[in-house]
Amino acid sequence: MMIFKGIKKYPRKDATRDSLQSKKLKNPTSNSLQSKKLKNTVRDVLNPKVIIRKKRDGKKLNEQEIEYFISEYTKYNIPDYQMAAFLMAIYFQGLDFYETSCLMKAMMHSGKVLNLREIKKPIIDKHSTGGVGDKVSLILAPLMASCGICVPMISGRGLGHTGGTLDKLESIPGFRTNLTLKAFKRQLSHLGVALIGQTREIAPADKKIYALRDVTATVDSIPLIAASIMSKKLAEDLNGLVLDIKFGSGAFMTDYDKAKKLARTMIQIGKRAGVKVTAVLTDMNNPLGEYVGNSLEVMETIEALKGRGSKDLMEVTYALGREMLKLAKVKGGETLLKKNIATRAALDCFKKMVCVQNGDILIFNDYKRLPIAKHKYRVLAKKSGYVHKIDNYQIGMLLVTLGGGRIKMEDKIDPSCGFKIHKKIGNKVKKGDRLVEIFCDDPVKARSISKKMHDVFTIRAHACNRMQMICDILH
Ligand code: URA
Repeated sequence: MMIFKGIKKYPRKDATRDSLQSKKLKNPTSNSLQSKKLKNTVRDVLNPKVIIRKKRDGKKLNEQEIEYFISEYTKYNIPDYQMAAFLMAIYFQGLDFYETSCLMKAMMHSGKVLNLREIKKPIIDKHSTGGVGDKVSLILAPLMASCGICVPMISGRGLGHTGGTLDKLESIPGFRTNLTLKAFKRQLSHLGVALIGQTREIAPADKKIYALRDVTATVDSIPLIAASIMSKKLAEDLNGLVLDIKFGSGAFMTDYDKAKKLARTMIQIGKRAGVKVTAVLTDMNNPLGEYVGNSLEVMETIEALKGRGSKDLMEVTYALGREMLKLAKVKGGETLLKKNIATRAALDCFKKMVCVQNGDILIFNDYKRLPIAKHKYRVLAKKSGYVHKIDNYQIGMLLVTLGGGRIKMEDKIDPSCGFKIHKKIGNKVKKGDRLVEIFCDDPVKARSISKKMHDVFTIRAHACNRMQMICDILH
């Protein structure tokens, strides 16, 4: 599909590179003996410490340096501590569009790029920049497959204070997210949807870098987010991509203008690769939906697919779904999406996916089979008024503290813990009303989280408006 042609077209005209590199980049017969020698010579002079220092000092990197750093890290020839320093240098100094494109390209080509030519359906995916309680991918992937669209979704784990699609799915007993490329393609041909993580075969650089960014406070960077997302998505051989760009206290881009800049960067990268990208800017000042926490969000997903999704969650789901239908040129719009929820066609598709990916399908009628904490602790409002603000970042971090996210790379997630959010921005509150319920089987932890949860809510006497969920759509 287009992407192969597109990627070859990738911009190089504004590159700063020396003539040796320039020859190598332009030369289509670069596998000749001479060019191999040249490559080795250039590689011999590349040095991770020098590249880190160059970026640390605010200088522009060239394609060769970026490609070298990424490919050597993927092959375990550059250690985590040097990559961590490199990421921090990028975090503070930034990358321009050319460098960001080179980073994305190096990450994308760290593994295989899919060839889905034999699939005769439109191939469209969705990705979110991450939020608190964001389980939209779990609902949307089967929903779109039920509309005749192929969704080859490569997702991530929890990142920073935000949850991850893979961690949520893995809370389903037996569910496998590490399919081989062959199994992934087979499932896409038969079912039209598969949800996996970055693997050693597809986007391996992002797999390693993503985990490292999570624990080194280097997530909220426009070039790093753009390269991470687009490297996975452009490896999927897509016809189109819809991005959910979140802004607000629970997003990586708290600032609306920065979120817009991130959206424009990714749209531009997509354009250069020949893939149509639509970006929907959505509010993340509230947790999305009713639950935050891995198993709890799977339960909420099933409820949504049974037609009982909360208003805000379905508003975002339908907005993204409409854009996916448009990119796929499938008619029907929101009416079709609602019909496939009402007839349970989307639920049926999710069930099949869980079954094929080895998950326990009995969870659909018995949520007790999900690892959900047995004990609940209420957090009650200390005064009456209206919710004006929620520190959504803090809600995400409290989940990490409970064990629902990682502090170190090797940490195991506790899928059972989480929160039910009873009040959102704009809601009226009476003293003694439930603000949140904490799901946790460790009473000491639960009590400590409960105290902190009070500070998350700003309650004032005067009324306050509900947030608008969909703020802009960019192409
Ligand atoms: N999602 C990703 O895949 N990568 C990021 O960096 C942020 C969100």
